[in-house]
Amino acid sequence: MSSQKKVRVRFAPSPTGGLHLGGVRTALFNYLFAKQHGGDFILRIEDTDQTRFVAGAEEYINECLAWCGIIPDESPDKPGAYGPYRQSERKATYRQYAEQLVNAGYAYYAFDTAEELDEQRKIHPNFRYSHENRLSLRNSLSLSEEETQALLSKDHPHTIRIKMPEDETIGFEDMIRGRVSFETKLVDDKVLLKADGMPTYHLAVVVDDHAMQISHIFRGEEWLPSAPVHLLLWEYLGWKNEMPAWAHLPLILKPDGNGKLSKRDGDRLGFPVYAMNWMDPKSGVLTEGFRELGFLPEAFVNMLALLGWNDGTDQELFGLAELVAKFSVERISKSGAKFDYEKAKWFNHEWIKGMDNSLLLPQIEEIIRTHGVSAIDTVLLDTVLSTVKERMTFVSDFWPQASFFFVRPEEYDIEAVKVKWNEQKTAFFQELAGEFEQQATWSASAIEPLFKDKIVQSGMKIGELMLPYRIMLVGGKFGPDVFLITELLGKEEVIARISKALPLLK
Ligand code: GLU
Repeated sequence: MSSQKKVRVRFAPSPTGGLHLGGVRTALFNYLFAKQHGGDFILRIEDTDQTRFVAGAEEYINECLAWCGIIPDESPDKPGAYGPYRQSERKATYRQYAEQLVNAGYAYYAFDTAEELDEQRKIHPNFRYSHENRLSLRNSLSLSEEETQALLSKDHPHTIRIKMPEDETIGFEDMIRGRVSFETKLVDDKVLLKADGMPTYHLAVVVDDHAMQISHIFRGEEWLPSAPVHLLLWEYLGWKNEMPAWAHLPLILKPDGNGKLSKRDGDRLGFPVYAMNWMDPKSGVLTEGFRELGFLPEAFVNMLALLGWNDGTDQELFGLAELVAKFSVERISKSGAKFDYEKAKWFNHEWIKGMDNSLLLPQIEEIIRTHGVSAIDTVLLDTVLSTVKERMTFVSDFWPQASFFFVRPEEYDIEAVKVKWNEQKTAFFQELAGEFEQQATWSASAIEPLFKDKIVQSGMKIGELMLPYRIMLVGGKFGPDVFLITELLGKEEVIARISKALPLLK
């Protein structure tokens, strides 16, 4: 690759279902690299496998990227100069390259039917179409020129396969792993063009990365075994000097044990793996995603960036712009990164805590409205949010943490205080309500001494009365400072709540 080439990277998902967090991380790393180098981030939809096509999956991918703020410069919806951006719409371009490879002796027509290949698999359980057996199978290498032409002219269904060299060592410099080598004798003759005229992933990915002038490719480690096929295609198509630089990203591993994190691990261990909710159109099964479970996109992106990368310091919180500035390929680790859901929640908690209220308020107001509160005191809401933010892991935690600021408690967790209740306590709260009535300055700093002095005068202990008071206001044994709650609820409301709860204790 020439160093002057403009940086152009691509995210190339197949629209087959929910988008795994590993897929979003791939998109993110491509994006970060492109933006850091003033380059372009391209979304290409790899939909050549018609049997795996799933309705709605492409729109879903667009929405996931938009939610994360990873916005493509070119995509099916925003075509640039290299379209179309869906491989199914580029179908016409692939055959000529496959034919070119056949003519140059790097590929061949294979006429074996699916049944014939199944037969082979029965006889040889480890069957691979390769240099070891290709001459005993039905293809343009084993048949005569005339036989081949006869079959082609009769439109006999056929595929085109790459002719892997029998015994060569090939390799490339991976941006993360350094030199990676492969023995061609271990790689089978992959299909390049299918019987339906569609290219396979191997052919399409090389043709399109070339046509779209992709300069760098960040993709998951699971694609490394395909690299020898791609390497040879770049060479055989005469584009070796234009080959992009590759980086194979470390796997995201399951939290327990080894192996790649799968959706099944999420179902098994009770955490999301998809970026957003995905409803399988065939089965109707809904899989919950990070977005709907209450993750902020900033936290999700931040968490993904640190799965396999760090900036070399202890810093863990990064916004997208800072990631663009600090991202470095050198600091991507070679080994897999274990996914840790507790850590993912920690990121969300930290982002909520640090986020400007104005950015959270639209979602919070929506939550409050769904609980039937229509008149929202925005000044109160702003203060309440600042107060409970540090207790929230998800935006949805707001209601359980703060509902009592907006509606009176329906239920009271009074069992523990009820057993120790007595007339003296009832009298205390009745008098307290009376004194509150007379109180001119309604603030936490005015109420707290009043309340505490009154306890001292009564001869009771602070602990005996603070908890019942909290429960009267809140309904349970939680929430921020009780005098702050007192101030925010306002005089009338506090007196009303004491009056409502007191008969339940007597
Ligand atoms: N279509 C492949 C996928 O679904 C793309 C792999 C690549 O980036 O080369 O992930």
